[in-house]
Amino acid sequence: MATYCDLHIHSCLSPCADDDMTPWNLVGMARVKGLDVIALTDHNTALNTPEAAAAGEAYGVQVIPGMEVTSREEVHMLGYFPSVREALAAGEEVYAHLPDVKNQPALFGNQIIVGAEDTPSGTLEKLLINATDLSVGEVCDLIRAHGGVPVPAHINRGSNGMIGALGLMPFLPEYPVVEVYPGVACPAYAVKGRFVLHSSDAHRLEDLQERTFTLDALPTAGDVMRLLRAMDGRKSGI
Ligand SMILES: [Zn+2]
Ligand SMILES: [Zn+2]
Repeated sequence: MATYCDLHIHSCLSPCADDDMTPWNLVGMARVKGLDVIALTDHNTALNTPEAAAAGEAYGVQVIPGMEVTSREEVHMLGYFPSVREALAAGEEVYAHLPDVKNQPALFGNQIIVGAEDTPSGTLEKLLINATDLSVGEVCDLIRAHGGVPVPAHINRGSNGMIGALGLMPFLPEYPVVEVYPGVACPAYAVKGRFVLHSSDAHRLEDLQERTFTLDALPTAGDVMRLLRAMDGRKSGI
């Protein structure tokens, strides 16, 4: 079954995302775009995933609670979790590994926590776009310890993609699932034998993905997680 997905979306809690990327707005936009399953993946926190899940229930869009963790090598690593509870627990650990540097909203943007009924309930103090002190391997371990699936984000894009940050893409069986940013060249060796995701990395409502990427799964968060976990568990190539 072809399930339309966008598994990399930021909310207004990420300083670099628009303030109108509230959970209800972004889930509503996913509904308008006809997406079946999305993931909310803010930088180094999962605090807006409860409200995204609530919006998903109301709008009939399945939401995977996620996060985009920055390793100390500046690699962006997506984590997809089986439940909001696990995402929040992982997020709390990751946040504790951020340096004690305060966000300056005028410089970096607001970090808005959204509570019930899409109402702002506070802001996060530490600057979320900093790197944690966790190695990329430790980030993977942390995500898996919470039942999650680690996926290197936009491996082919910029200094925060794994290829740019590490200088090369490690070989299998490391990182059996990767995200490749569409429209940017990606060396063939980096994806050979790997399960590849394409997502929007949207920071603005209009940038959410159209119906362009499907996974062979039922249109539920649970079945997409089942597929990702199966792909993450493979020890060899396709
Ligand atoms: Zn990123
Ligand atoms: Zn991102």
